[in-house]
Amino acid sequence: MKRARVGIVGAGQLGRMLALAGYPLGIECILLDRSGDSPGGQVAQLRLGALDDAEALAALAKDVDAVTLEIENVPVEALEAAARFAPVRPGAAAVAAAQDRLAEKRLFSELGIATAPFVEVGERAALRHAAAQLEWPIVLKARRMGYDGRGQRVARSADELERAFTDLGEVPCIAEQWVRFERELSLIAVQGADRERVYYPLAENEHESGILAATTAPYDDPHLWDTAKRALDALLDRLDYRGVLTVEFFHAGGTLVANEMAPRVHNSGHWTIEGAETSQFENHLRAVLGWPLGDASPRGVAGMVNLLGRMPPRERLLSIPGVHLHDYGKAPRPGRKLGHLTIVDTSREQLLERLRLLRSEVGAAET
Ligand code: AMP
Repeated sequence: MKRARVGIVGAGQLGRMLALAGYPLGIECILLDRSGDSPGGQVAQLRLGALDDAEALAALAKDVDAVTLEIENVPVEALEAAARFAPVRPGAAAVAAAQDRLAEKRLFSELGIATAPFVEVGERAALRHAAAQLEWPIVLKARRMGYDGRGQRVARSADELERAFTDLGEVPCIAEQWVRFERELSLIAVQGADRERVYYPLAENEHESGILAATTAPYDDPHLWDTAKRALDALLDRLDYRGVLTVEFFHAGGTLVANEMAPRVHNSGHWTIEGAETSQFENHLRAVLGWPLGDASPRGVAGMVNLLGRMPPRERLLSIPGVHLHDYGKAPRPGRKLGHLTIVDTSREQLLERLRLLRSEVGAAET
């Protein structure tokens, strides 16, 4: 039987974990990236090319059964060029919506998904309007290319807002009201062929300086899960979606407020590798290829800790019972995601205690 082939745009850690999930199923992943020493290129076939190069994407598409992406900042024109030769999943419409914070927030509003109040800031003159419409603090976010807390500033006064706009390079932005949330949650859904859908449980996420530090799952709240599921369903329907879709929410005032969506596998789903019956990576590949989806049920309670900036000593990590180490093979750099750790337990209390100890160990090594 011919091996199934999936082209992945981007060969960072997400591309790497997709390729690794493909191996047991006999799926051959071919990754596209501009760096020869990318995390994905260390484990799978790599094509060198820029992620915004329409010709490189089209050439990749010619050699595979389907194309997917591990990063949302791929120009729509390049995805359309690839789509002439192989299905691109998720499609350009979903990626376009996720690339632009304004389009994304408008889509949420149109679908009845609650968001923080927001105002478009196309030019400096609009800052005054934003300050009049919203309450302080206000978060100013560049519409494009922001991730892991980059491209955003918090302002507590009109002066700070002016300065934030200057700092961000006076690019088109949205101004968003600061949400006083109790916690951050995310939901990952997967849509396969014929609208087959599976949903993971809610995950609770802790960010530090805008970067995900740790996730625990499941966050057990059937009412909130249902609210999140309805939001994901509306997006899957509207975008005629294929693959993993993630939405990050704030839990505030007893309900959920959507922050952003990612048209790809997500850091808040890394726990699913050991903590769920089928990982988000495997399910994404299954969905992209039109294969039946796997069970998304949790196998207990899981905790994931990101390894940021500096790798703690490997021997130390591996000597902790039950810890699963994922090393992305990257050079250390402040704030960079170098790997993650996962533990799975049967009791939430026990997991939280083990996670606390693990985080202090990791924190001690990172500072
Ligand atoms: P983002 O890049 O939009 O995911 O933002 C990164 C992180 O900044 C979020 O996970 C939150 O911790 C925080 N953040 C972003 N927007 C807001 C907001 N409107 N209110 C409160 N916190 C926010």
